[in-house]
Amino acid sequence: MKCRRCGRKAIEKLKAYGIALCSECYIGFYEELVERSIRRFRVIKRGERVLACISGGKDSSAMLGVLVALSERLGFEVEALHIDLGIKGYSDKSREISKKLCEMLGVEMNLVSLEEFGFTIDGVERRKVCSACGTVKRYLMNRYARLNGFSVIATGHTSEDVITFFFKNWLSGNFSWSEKFLPRTESFDEKIVTRIRPLYDRSEKENMLYVLCRKLPFLAESCPYAPQDEWKEIVYYIEGRKPGFKRNFVLNLAKYLLEREEKRKESYGYCKLCGEVTTSDVCAFCKLVEKYKK
Ligand code: SF4
Ligand code: ZN
Repeated sequence: MKCRRCGRKAIEKLKAYGIALCSECYIGFYEELVERSIRRFRVIKRGERVLACISGGKDSSAMLGVLVALSERLGFEVEALHIDLGIKGYSDKSREISKKLCEMLGVEMNLVSLEEFGFTIDGVERRKVCSACGTVKRYLMNRYARLNGFSVIATGHTSEDVITFFFKNWLSGNFSWSEKFLPRTESFDEKIVTRIRPLYDRSEKENMLYVLCRKLPFLAESCPYAPQDEWKEIVYYIEGRKPGFKRNFVLNLAKYLLEREEKRKESYGYCKLCGEVTTSDVCAFCKLVEKYKK
């Protein structure tokens, strides 16, 4: 199997794209894909200060690596944030790997320890660990980014994360999450920092190949609390049968949500009679007044 771009020995055939690439060409290919998505969804604007949250795992390592690679051309700054969750035997390794990664990439690593707030994830009841951990991470990264003047917070969510999240929420009838799971979610309050997901349409496998090709450090073991995720297995199964499923799914989901948002924004205006918010020229109340006023 030869590399489609340079003819050298290919390391992998990428079924979703129908091409085989060598490790050097793969690095360029992956970075082009991420750059294209960043431009397409206006994920990062020129001059923004990005706070990239890294756990030491392959996805966030890939995210930091690619953001640093693209930062000059796309005109943004990037620093990393690692949150020490206090998980015995795991957090120490995550922190050390994150440090190593930042040193290698020449990026400033900011560190927050949950212990400073008087507890650790190990102290939470087993049943509630992951939900508490999610709360902790969202809270600490938002606060840290705001207090230190970052414009956006970047997380390493992948297409698998988006799809499994979609299924779980859709099936439990929870639809309000969806607007929040876009490549870029604008802040709606001065205390909330805009969130971005630069790997929104990248798969875990693409990220893994990128960190391997670039020899970026990452922690291969997963968190001891990580639940077995059947939805992910289902998503992998579909991708195996229908290569390209994941990418098309998330791209169309983003397109749909963004169009809906645009329509919603467009359709709002002010009533020409009373000035209240309405979706038509004259609001429903004024129509009633006109109709029934004696
Ligand atoms: Fe936190 Fe570990 Fe659960 Fe992930 S698996 S949310 S790191 S406790
Ligand atoms: Zn090549």
